[in-house]
Amino acid sequence: MKERILKNIAAIQTAGKSTAELYNEISSAVMREISFTAPAPDQKSAYYLSIEFLIGRMFYNNLLELGILDEVRDILKEKGVNAAVFEEIEDAALGNGGLGRLAACFVDSAAGLDLPVYGRGIRYKYGLFKQKFENGFQEELPDDWQSFGDPWGVRRENEARIVKFADAEVRAVPYDIPIIGKNRINTLRLYQAEGSEGAEKISEYLYPADDTEEGKLLRLRQEYFLSAASVGELVDAYVAVHGTDFSAFPAFNAVQLNDTHPVLAIAEFIRILTGSYGVPFAKAVRLAGKTFGYTNHTILPEALECWPQEYLKKLLPEIYAVLKKLDERQRREFRRKAVLEEDAAAMRIAKNGIFSMANTAVYVAHRVNGVAKIHSAILKDSLFRAAYLYTPEKFVNVTNGITQRRWLMLCNEELSALIDSKIGTGWRGDIGLLSEMKKFRKEDTVLAEFAQIKSKKKEQLAEYVYRKEGIRLLPDAIVYAQVKRLHEYKRQLMTAFAILEIYEKLKSGELAGFKPTVFLFGAKSAPAYFRAKGIIKFINEIAKKIAGDESVNKKLQVVFVTDYNVSYAEKIVAGADVSLQVSTAGLEASGTGNMKFMMNGAVTCGTMDGANIEIVEQAGRENNYIFGAEVDEIDSLRRNGYDPNAILAQDGAARRAIETLVDGTFDDGGRGYFRELYDSLTVGASWHKPDHYFILRDLPDYVEKLLLINREAGTHEFTQKQFANAVSSAYFSSDRSIREYAENIWEL
Ligand SMILES: *Cc1c(COP(=O)(O)O)cnc(C)c1O
Repeated sequence: MKERILKNIAAIQTAGKSTAELYNEISSAVMREISFTAPAPDQKSAYYLSIEFLIGRMFYNNLLELGILDEVRDILKEKGVNAAVFEEIEDAALGNGGLGRLAACFVDSAAGLDLPVYGRGIRYKYGLFKQKFENGFQEELPDDWQSFGDPWGVRRENEARIVKFADAEVRAVPYDIPIIGKNRINTLRLYQAEGSEGAEKISEYLYPADDTEEGKLLRLRQEYFLSAASVGELVDAYVAVHGTDFSAFPAFNAVQLNDTHPVLAIAEFIRILTGSYGVPFAKAVRLAGKTFGYTNHTILPEALECWPQEYLKKLLPEIYAVLKKLDERQRREFRRKAVLEEDAAAMRIAKNGIFSMANTAVYVAHRVNGVAKIHSAILKDSLFRAAYLYTPEKFVNVTNGITQRRWLMLCNEELSALIDSKIGTGWRGDIGLLSEMKKFRKEDTVLAEFAQIKSKKKEQLAEYVYRKEGIRLLPDAIVYAQVKRLHEYKRQLMTAFAILEIYEKLKSGELAGFKPTVFLFGAKSAPAYFRAKGIIKFINEIAKKIAGDESVNKKLQVVFVTDYNVSYAEKIVAGADVSLQVSTAGLEASGTGNMKFMMNGAVTCGTMDGANIEIVEQAGRENNYIFGAEVDEIDSLRRNGYDPNAILAQDGAARRAIETLVDGTFDDGGRGYFRELYDSLTVGASWHKPDHYFILRDLPDYVEKLLLINREAGTHEFTQKQFANAVSSAYFSSDRSIREYAENIWEL
């Protein structure tokens, strides 16, 4: 196959063709030769249902997975084409952040491990919006990712199916994307909505605005569309081979629900079995239980899907009937088992006419997993405490992971080559072998090469930032990066205040020997998230002020990159020295950005939250910079009272940093963003107590750690720390995560 692909590519005429034309021709030359691996008829398959797949750019990754990236580069070079031009091709950004990127890493690992695991999602016409800054304010533009063509997607017209709503019938047309592993090519199947009466609206946008009833109904339609298309397909395929005795369905199918968005799949499965095949309700529920697993990704209440019964009745009356029956069954069961009222209330599928998708999944599924050890523990202790009490056997942990193919081999060829030269190439097929690199921890020549690679990746990052933003990063600076969705719990605002404190100290001459430092931010705010947009503007204002201050601008720089996405992340994780992972303890379920940085040899400056805890376990706490309140302390502050104003009264530096929101230092163009942020910290806003995310509790420790890093950076010891992180990262491969899912949940 490889030879034929290379021959096809060698035959392509390149003269006079645009990048997009060449991209399509080369990609098609690959697609012509590859064939999807069909699942064996007697084998169990797993299906990963996710509302997001944040795939990123497919071109280089697919060539890498096929083992022909270097050859293709050479062929193109002979034709006078630099393969780097394909960096112009837009990412397929059919996701918003970690959740969608996890799904993409998982299908990659499954193919790599030769496992029959298939993704199911939605082929949005527009992915996550493209971000621009206009005078420091975020603006959103539609992301027309198909404008370059979609040579990797294969439309399967004859496998289209109908999804029925009370008021419409919608065609779900599958597009299959190859997920290439060494020994098999799996499909990621994305469904596109077509038909009359605005059917295509269903797959038009990822997360349409849901501040109106119409918007909420559209999201419900999307979730059902994904669920019904996927479940319908699986049931039809089963019936075609095994007939209508569904007893063996779970022996052939495992379905993983990536968060609460696809939970309606459970109801759809029961609806079809009971409605179309006469399976008794209780048996259908039992079969659903054996088939479905549910992954929880957050304990933030606003992200746990709930549907009012009016919406369900209006759009999906049969699904409503199934959920209602499930709820009645649960109520009977609770009475029979004399479940305490308090526990029952916590587990109810329906409460006051609102259906909880999380509780539905926990009630039916045979496995419920969190995504890092601490997060799984929190699920048992608080969010699903009652369910854990009655069904402890359902609860497992699978710590997230990232694919080392994209996040090391592709984004850091130099570091990968160093590893090859020291331990051979075996680690490329078996990431566990990466740990063999640990024996070079104290070898100066290896450390020197490692440090050189970091500098080189930093230069490449600087070039990329210059190309994208027109900004020159300070040369040879320490790069601290905080790149992730913009959300208050991730506390980009705390980093902003820390920078202001450092800025003030620099100006007052307190920081002799301060080494040039760049703070790099990348983040999109949800379009309707007022405070997040305020934080973006605030950081951009700080960046501008520092850039314009001749007394510090050779030492300190703040850059907020525009349109952070997977391709940007590939550059940033390879070039950064310090990974800022500073969420309020207990609120970041796992994080995966933290793992990408670690794998590329950045130290973590962060709180004991999510997978940071396991990063420290693997790489050593002494090799990272951990600070701030831990989960127990945050819990006790929440319970026993927390007074940020008392801290402000004591801590002059923090107070001055926070006052800049309202004292005229910075300008939000009269939009009220900064006042709102200030109030949220000092008096509380929108039902939250002041400083809901405990920024002032952790800020002094944070500043101290940032300055400690500044003192240590560039030393031999610091390089050792960075190296220790990179070579201890094998555990965070999504290959390990997928093995755990396959063994403990899917039983493949
Ligand atoms: C990995 C990744 C994320 C997740 O980052 P976290 O720090 O874990 O929130 C978000 N967006 C992109 C583009 C990513 O590559």
